[in-house]
Amino acid sequence: MTKPYDLRSLYPEEVKEILKEKGLEAWRTDQIFSWLEKGVRSFEEMTNLSKKLREELDELFFISNMTDADRLISKIDGTEKYLFTLPDGEYVESVLLSYKHGYSVCLSTQAGCKMGCSFCASTKAGFTRDLSAGEILLQMVEITRIKRQDDPAFRIGHLVLMGIGEPLDNYDNVIRFLRLCNRKELFGISFRNMSLSTCGIIPRIRDLMQEDIPLTLSISLHASNSALRSKLMPVNRRYPLKELLAVCKEYTRVTGRRISFEYALIAGVNDTPKEARELIGLLSGFMNHLNLIPVNPTKETSFTPGTRRAVEAFAQSLQRGGLNATVRRTLGQDIEAACGQLRREKKH
Ligand code: SAH
Repeated sequence: MTKPYDLRSLYPEEVKEILKEKGLEAWRTDQIFSWLEKGVRSFEEMTNLSKKLREELDELFFISNMTDADRLISKIDGTEKYLFTLPDGEYVESVLLSYKHGYSVCLSTQAGCKMGCSFCASTKAGFTRDLSAGEILLQMVEITRIKRQDDPAFRIGHLVLMGIGEPLDNYDNVIRFLRLCNRKELFGISFRNMSLSTCGIIPRIRDLMQEDIPLTLSISLHASNSALRSKLMPVNRRYPLKELLAVCKEYTRVTGRRISFEYALIAGVNDTPKEARELIGLLSGFMNHLNLIPVNPTKETSFTPGTRRAVEAFAQSLQRGGLNATVRRTLGQDIEAACGQLRREKKH
């Protein structure tokens, strides 16, 4: 029998409602959720529920699971990369980063990506499907379960949607995921400790500003003018730079949250004094932060990061121009922590 409900993608009150409707013990909902957060894979393991109830639940609800195919730990900085496998054979990459203020996870939102950015490994292995809200959450569940085997006090404090996929191209599932892991019954992560990165799907940015989810929005900018951006990022042909920046201003006005821009520095392509001048012109007066990231070379492109000095010089010229620009420390370089690289290896 196919099971009608995907348990990991449901809010506690939805589960409660279903149980009530079926005449089952709805007051057990909190117990069910605390098992889910602990990382159980089946109702069988929810040992404080009666056997009869477990069987009834098992007929109603499907629990999504995945296996951990690979776990790489950086010798340089302890960053951990996970490659999980879903039952349909799809790969999901997630990264665990350790900072002074605690642990942060970088999660994938789709199996692959349709956006086609020229410098990005995630898009090269193609797009297969969206991840469900429960499958996005499952990455946190699995990492927590694995880490707690050694450290019972382990908890995730921050999350960023900067893994494989374009979060705003899987809008409903991503919004549901964000609300789910904000719930005290699950991870209870505050929206202010969440970031969402997008290549700039304008109508969905507009939708997001109406959700009352005060997360940090990151925009993948990567170019200082529209012609260059269209070359690097096909999405710019549909949603051009000027309109994107206008919607960013609107986002800040409506939500009161500042936007963070991502700029991958590619030697000789977008890191010359001309681009620095253009960026200053483009972003002055914005309440924002610009993250400069030396591009991570991928196999399919000849893109390379500039020297450390060139990167610093670029940052300094932006700072002199009044921009709040910093060079992002790259973590996990020895384990290909930049997302998309492991999945692509497996798909070939
Ligand atoms: N689709 C979303 C989130 C996923 S990518 C987005 O476009 O924002 C997370 C970040 O890594 C994005 O800013 C993306 O542009 C950047 N990125 C992708 N490939 C990269 C590479 N080779 N080097 C540096 N940054 C890269």
